[in-house]
Amino acid sequence: MERSLQELVWRRAGGVCEYCLLPSMHHPVPFQVDHVIAQQHGGETIESNLALACLRCNTHKGPNIAGIDPVTRKIVPLFHPRTQRWDQHFHWDGPILTGVTPSARATIFVLDINHAVRVTLRATLIDEGLFPPRR
Ligand SMILES: [Zn+2]
Repeated sequence: MERSLQELVWRRAGGVCEYCLLPSMHHPVPFQVDHVIAQQHGGETIESNLALACLRCNTHKGPNIAGIDPVTRKIVPLFHPRTQRWDQHFHWDGPILTGVTPSARATIFVLDINHAVRVTLRATLIDEGLFPPRR
């Protein structure tokens, strides 16, 4: 991937994971440029298919493009940071991320966004006034 494209993705995201909003500056593990639609499914390496993701989100997402909504048990597409607005799909309950749409709930589940370690990290950042990041 071209360096200029990587820089665009970082700049556009403001250095924040586009799924869980973890700020890269407060996390030691490197962030990655995610193919929203994985290359395995024909996703291209173009601006409209790339998102900044923390290592945990990107690792859990892998090549997944869909998940099962824990409420409706239906298969739904994962949240797409380029075509959907984060604020319309997710909201915070303290350090816990809540999904208000089937896609958001499936994304939280597949990406394991509310794993205990991640919730603890966010709670610490909240205590320090560093989370959620201003966007
Ligand atoms: Zn993340």
